[in-house]
Amino acid sequence: MRKVYMDHGSASPVDARVLEAIMPYFDMDVGNPSSLHSAGRKAKRELEAARTAVAKLIGAPSSNSIIFTSCATESNNLALRGAALRYKDKGNHIITTSIEHMSVMNTLKDLQRSGFEVTYIPVDKDGLVDAERIKKAITDKTILISVMYANGEIGTIQPIREIGAIASDKKIMFHVDGTAAVGKVPVNVEEERIDLLTISSNDMNGPKGAGALYIKQGVRLIPFMLGGGQEFGMRSGSENIPGIVGMGKAADIAGKEMITEGARLIKMRDRLIDNILKLEYTYLTGHRTKRLPNNASFRFSFIEGESIILQLNDMGITASTGSACSSKTLEPSHVLIATGLRHEEAHGSLLLTLGRSNSEEDVDYVIKSVPEIVTRLRALSPLYPAK
Ligand code: PMP
Repeated sequence: MRKVYMDHGSASPVDARVLEAIMPYFDMDVGNPSSLHSAGRKAKRELEAARTAVAKLIGAPSSNSIIFTSCATESNNLALRGAALRYKDKGNHIITTSIEHMSVMNTLKDLQRSGFEVTYIPVDKDGLVDAERIKKAITDKTILISVMYANGEIGTIQPIREIGAIASDKKIMFHVDGTAAVGKVPVNVEEERIDLLTISSNDMNGPKGAGALYIKQGVRLIPFMLGGGQEFGMRSGSENIPGIVGMGKAADIAGKEMITEGARLIKMRDRLIDNILKLEYTYLTGHRTKRLPNNASFRFSFIEGESIILQLNDMGITASTGSACSSKTLEPSHVLIATGLRHEEAHGSLLLTLGRSNSEEDVDYVIKSVPEIVTRLRALSPLYPAK
């Protein structure tokens, strides 16, 4: 049976070139960058080279504005909590959208419990947020705006440049969760006026256990990991050198290959979309064109996403339903609900996320398998009108 992995949004294979680059740092080059001996100095050089590679990928003017963390969740926590606590004397109001990742949603909920006020700007049926609505929500108490660059579940890319201009004009801190976007589409913190940017290693074929936060020079955060003062005092703890070296290599590769790889993925994505949408009672979720190159997401009426995933799994295809990161719960995805879907509509979702390992033959196999499964499941569904 053919094996097709189309769940890159949940977890991605580490690129072979990345794997090769990081191996020596597990058992041979094991110095701690804080040590003075030559092994320590080598680790420090590698740490700084990775910082430079990540800075270059996002157009950051200085590598010193990159802080390595353990994952995107940690970066989101540090950005939001760190900025809210640092600037609380200026105001207590934060603006975000209704489709952020849970690492943003739950951090903001926690801040609400300690007195911050959060405005959740709704999105339209394609998951797009209107920059003007953000502008209108700003008050003299607003200290922070947080909007994701792209949504990993429905693929929609937000008007970050427009929101960045508004935030910068009003001198309000602008955090962007770039997890699903950085390395897939060009992101430039200077041009888009981003003050804080969350970056994930695994989402660009780097190893898990590494992430980063871009902190614009001059912005101050209150750190929550206290200790030896590593990462400019923003994130104490001995640096994960293999993870960081891997993230640097992944950033380097993404920077060089993003445009050609993006075009290859878009071709496969559009073939998935055009063919799967031929099925009746089948709808695209997210925006048709303002969308991540690797994301093809759908909903099918009258059937459950979980059943689709399990049947695809039996045919060798790995895919997701609902929010890849929180599908432990059987609650419908808050993202799909925010786009105006009813619970029963949101339950029938399928998320295919492409990556470097996929080929046109994989797409052929998925295009053939999905209709078979959907037809079979609908034949069993009491809700299906054609029964
Ligand atoms: N933000 C977004 C937009 C995501 O899609 C994810 C999940 N990949 C995260 C944050 C959290 O990433 P992680 O679980 O690697 O911390």
